[in-house]
Amino acid sequence: MFEKILIANRGEIALRIQRACKELGVRTVAVHSTADADAMHVKLADESVCIGPPAASESYLNIHSILAAIEITGAEAVHPGYGFLSENAKFADILEEHGVTFIGPTAEHIRLMGDKITAKETAKRLGIPVVPGSDGALESDEEALKIAEEIGYPVLVKAASGGGGRGMKVAENAEALPVAMATARAESQAAFGDDTLYMEKYLTRPRHIEVQVIGDGQGNAVHLFERDCSLQRRHQKVFEEAPSPALNLEQREQICAICAKAIAELGYRGVGTIEFLYENGEFYFIEMNTRLQVEHPVTEMITGVDLVAEQIRIASGAPLSVRQDEIRLNGHAIECRINAENPTTFMPSPGKITYYHPPGGLGVRVDSGVYAGYTIPAYYDSLIGKLIVHGKNRNECLMRLKRALSEFVIDGIETTIPLFSALIMQPDIANGLYDIHWLEKYLDQS
Ligand code: ADP
Repeated sequence: MFEKILIANRGEIALRIQRACKELGVRTVAVHSTADADAMHVKLADESVCIGPPAASESYLNIHSILAAIEITGAEAVHPGYGFLSENAKFADILEEHGVTFIGPTAEHIRLMGDKITAKETAKRLGIPVVPGSDGALESDEEALKIAEEIGYPVLVKAASGGGGRGMKVAENAEALPVAMATARAESQAAFGDDTLYMEKYLTRPRHIEVQVIGDGQGNAVHLFERDCSLQRRHQKVFEEAPSPALNLEQREQICAICAKAIAELGYRGVGTIEFLYENGEFYFIEMNTRLQVEHPVTEMITGVDLVAEQIRIASGAPLSVRQDEIRLNGHAIECRINAENPTTFMPSPGKITYYHPPGGLGVRVDSGVYAGYTIPAYYDSLIGKLIVHGKNRNECLMRLKRALSEFVIDGIETTIPLFSALIMQPDIANGLYDIHWLEKYLDQS
């Protein structure tokens, strides 16, 4: 096991990783920008190093500064969390060149899945069902029109380097396709420095269902069931649950087994998530994330497996600590992403938290990096915490969520807590009847 790990992240996820380190007896190094000097992840770490000014490009994304922090503290491994450098293959390569362990998959696997076109080809090869669409990159408008004709409208033009829902445009018909392509190309070039596009059939009412996997890099892999992340706004997840209310036992077993087998065959190391759209009983692969996900706690709550501890153990060369037949699905879990945002307009609401009272009690978990008196800086994304509840079944889970939300007090800033209190009163949510467009329709109407 490592003696010291540097956590190249901030906020709730930096704290989450510290917790796993401490339980494994590993010392922690926090890094922070000047805007985060008072952050909880800095206060609770064994050591901390300031790595630059507020802008993420000069601090949390600054590989040179992070290398200097590793050098100063003698950390042997780096946990990247999610976002920032977590899917940066170059960063993984550089660490390796310096004899430092990247807690994550190999740079090769990050690259393979980072390009959505090669990811899709790989998935297909490994027996994972994919969305019908172009076989590779779209070379011209003419080619795009031809493929769209074959698969049928509406179609979705997507950026090969896409992420966070950017560089994606729907075309309802042939007239709209060239415009959709030009827009997606421009957006993708601006956001990712790459304007390669591909095409998929646009599924009109799918759910987003993803399978959590872990591999040991030696050809052994397990799955930890699925999460349903269909409640989305602008292609961003808002509320996640496990298991999916849409699947029966047989469907679950089938897709999860396909994923575990594929991951074993790939020789994948670390945790990963295989994302699908699910419509009319069929699964369609959309992408694989080669990192820890924001919503990983719902999986931890239903399986009892500490995914971060597992990541660290595997990176240190240990085998998987659980066998597939030891992983049991127990009850139901739901996560609400608490953002510092106006719950109606979603305008960011940074500022000082004047009063903070998190909920507690049986089956309630709050992963957050904030405290009373803390000022949320305006430089980073607005996620300030996650409320995760677990119950024996979905019904108990929803009642517990309602109770926990009513206890949660964060004063001084606006948060999305009232949105969740309203959402769980909706019959469709109570009944689990929602697809990826449900939330936007609901928000338009209210
Ligand atoms: P990103 O990496 O930008 O998050 P994804 O490929 O994971 O992109 O897609 C994000 C979201 O966009 C999905 O959860 C879904 O809501 C929507 N989406 C992606 N592909 C399709 C498709 N073929 N049809 C309909 N919706 C899609």
